[in-house]
Amino acid sequence: MLLIKIKPNGILGKLLLRNGKFDGRNLGPISFISKELTGRNKEAVIAHEKEHYYQWKKNPFTFGIKYLFIPEVRYKAELEAYRQQNYIVEAPDTYSYYILNNYKLDKLNLTIEKIKNDLLNKKENSIWENYH
Ligand SMILES: [Zn+2]
Repeated sequence: MLLIKIKPNGILGKLLLRNGKFDGRNLGPISFISKELTGRNKEAVIAHEKEHYYQWKKNPFTFGIKYLFIPEVRYKAELEAYRQQNYIVEAPDTYSYYILNNYKLDKLNLTIEKIKNDLLNKKENSIWENYH
């Protein structure tokens, strides 16, 4: 995985990190992270993006499209990525809030409690099996 550090308020940052709304972004073999990240927070975001890289690597021709167009896939992919992030910087409430609000998952009728439960419980989600 190629890791590129970018300024969150620079041209690439505005485009890929939504002006600092996100700390990282994965596009297949390349991950972009904010230059402003340091220490454990940086490690945690890299772990998150690395998980997306593995997801892409498993299905390089279909993952991006499915992630974009199937909310269930996006939800599961983010759960897995935030789970990796949570191993390094533990903040399940914050991550659940991000998942609820930043990934256009309204169709799934999620709640913070459901997300947090899925995030902390590795055996969840029979939904995913239908799409993977
Ligand atoms: Zn993610």
